[in-house]
Amino acid sequence: MQNFDIIIIGGGAAGFFTAINAAELNPELKICILERGKEVLTKVKVSGGGRCNVGHAEFLPRELSANYPRGEKELLGPFHKFMSGDTMQWFEKRGIALKVEDDGRIFPVSDDSQSIINCFIRDTEKFKIQVLKSHAVQTFQREEDFWKVKTSKGDFLAAKIMLATGSNPKMWSILKKLGHKIIDPVPSLFTFNIKDQRIKDLPGIATEAVVRINSNTIDLESNGPLLVTHWGMSGPSILKLSAWGARELQKLNYQFEILVSWLPGVTFENVLNQLKELKTNFAKQQVLKNAQFDLPKRLWQSLAVASGISDGMTWADLNKNQLHNLSSQLTESVFQVNGKSTFKEEFVTAGGVDLKEVNFQTFESKFHKNLFFAGEILNIDAITGGFNFQNAWTGGFLAAKALSEN
Ligand SMILES: Cc1cc2nc3c(=O)[nH]c(=O)nc-3n(C[C@H](O)[C@H](O)[C@H](O)COP(=O)(O)OP(=O)(O)OC[C@H]3O[C@@H](n4cnc5c(N)ncnc54)[C@H](O)[C@@H]3O)c2cc1C
Repeated sequence: MQNFDIIIIGGGAAGFFTAINAAELNPELKICILERGKEVLTKVKVSGGGRCNVGHAEFLPRELSANYPRGEKELLGPFHKFMSGDTMQWFEKRGIALKVEDDGRIFPVSDDSQSIINCFIRDTEKFKIQVLKSHAVQTFQREEDFWKVKTSKGDFLAAKIMLATGSNPKMWSILKKLGHKIIDPVPSLFTFNIKDQRIKDLPGIATEAVVRINSNTIDLESNGPLLVTHWGMSGPSILKLSAWGARELQKLNYQFEILVSWLPGVTFENVLNQLKELKTNFAKQQVLKNAQFDLPKRLWQSLAVASGISDGMTWADLNKNQLHNLSSQLTESVFQVNGKSTFKEEFVTAGGVDLKEVNFQTFESKFHKNLFFAGEILNIDAITGGFNFQNAWTGGFLAAKALSEN
């Protein structure tokens, strides 16, 4: 039986970050990472479209934590100790140049996730952290002062263990047996399936929008770019709703209505008045040929057609009803959502270890001494933009501090 000071279960983002930081704080420690797969860091590899969006340029703890539908309150304290600026410094200190894109997302300058992986592998070698692949952990249990970890390739002993197994159901069921509450996993970060004549021919069109879901059980609103896809709608405004509504939308079996305003911040009345002015000032101009409000032309045409306006009609031809309809289509288009799709294969799981049962100073279990968690195993998840990795880095960093202490 092999003996370690610290065993990290799971060779993903959170596992590697924890192992490296613990070793850096105390190089004497014997640390190993047990990974069930043939490869480690597979999600880091494919993350951010292969570019790895390592974090987000948001440098205020409260603002940063507001991006976590689950974990907002609990991460506030930890972010005061380790957040975006620290993440940037951490990688830059290791020679990984980073850049911030216009929307705030942070990437390696190389635009290649492999640079992040190389950095992690280099550090595990430097600190002699053992990385044992194809070691699937089957169970773990307390044996006197140690944790006994049973894997597909033999048993291991360690004084402290860290679970960084992402959304692996097996680990959750073991934790349930150890008395932890697991919040049911549901998918987050998905796009909406919508079959609707108004957007049928518009895939690829992107525009700023405000999207709202308002039913008996849910009232959510988000804004940002909206992208029309072959299946329906995607883009940051939609993904944010999918994250904040993850649990309620699952209860609705992903059947619900959304209200889209294609003109953020402009009211129905305001638009109606502007349309009336167009009718007066541009009476002879054809409506479909002259897109207004800086909208993409095909979207404008589609909304106008849905308002009962046909090809060749001029502003003078429009009656009161058509003006009303158009103003309504522009500011409160209703679409029926029927199901969801994955977003560029990127998704996270909402659910996991109940946050009430974790000490967020150290990321240690409140029930079991020397049992730590970090990353997606916890009931923490965020919208897209680098926030999910930030959760893994922050948890890993703070747990590493506690793990490395004697
Ligand atoms: C396609 C895609 C792209 C993404 N892009 C981004 C992005 O650009 N930015 C961002 O912030 N977030 C992104 N995310 C989310 C992000 O990848 C996750 O939030 C993050 O990887 C979670 O890290 P983790 O270490 O907790 O879990 P994981 O990365 O899932 O790692 C868990 C590891 O544990 C191993 N494991 C599980 N069970 C066992 C077991 N029983 N024994 C041993 N090992 C086990 C798994 O094989 C895995 O290697 C993306 C997600 C996907 C799917």
